Amino acid sequence: MKQLEERIRREGQILSDKVLKVDSFLNHQVDTELALEIGREFARIFADRGITKVLTIEASGIQFAMAAGIALGVPFVYAKKKKAVTLTENLYTAQVHSFTRQETYQVSISQNYLGPEERVLIVDDFLATGAALVGLVDIVKQSGARLCGVGCVIEKSFQEGRGLLEECGVEVHSLARIASMAPGRVTYVSELEAEPAAAGAAGMDGAGC
Ligand code: 5GP
Repeated sequence: MKQLEERIRREGQILSDKVLKVDSFLNHQVDTELALEIGREFARIFADRGITKVLTIEASGIQFAMAAGIALGVPFVYAKKKKAVTLTENLYTAQVHSFTRQETYQVSISQNYLGPEERVLIVDDFLATGAALVGLVDIVKQSGARLCGVGCVIEKSFQEGRGLLEECGVEVHSLARIASMAPGRVTYVSELEAEPAAAGAAGMDGAGC
């Protein structure tokens, strides 16, 4: 998504070769029109999948899941992060290890809001190590719902997240794929693919891990 790639270049702060700060427009202050356009883009990409529910994880996936839900005309549900391990009744839960925060936390979703009849699109702001999204894939699997794909706003393609999800048979679409970054410089996968040896992006019918 060109508009997004340009915005990252203009406003993103590259804190290291692994960490990108986009607080001014994506996940602290949110450019609402951009968020809605992101939602419309996910809706275009997954238009023919018969999505019935969008799933994300709090907090910074919420605005994009809502935008995608609006564009698709379906509800969205967000997984809650819980430290307590006592509430297990009527919940789907998964353990997620955050490499950025160096902690393991539990995510959960009420069984009332996800069931085997659903066709799910998972949406999140970043795909990095993939830990958070693998947790959500696990929850979808527990529910018996059909996982139709994962949509990420920003993918750091030099980290292992995409590979992990694809190993699970999940189809991943990211709107800005960063091949590498360093202070003052971002290279997108789209730019590398524009060069001669463009990689063919194979589509998969996501079935969950
Ligand atoms: P994971 O490593 O599980 O794929 O990423 C989990 C979460 O960490 C993402 O949803 C995102 O909220 C946060 N995250 C990972 N990498 C970055 C980054 O470079 N910048 C920001 N702002 N958040 C990140």
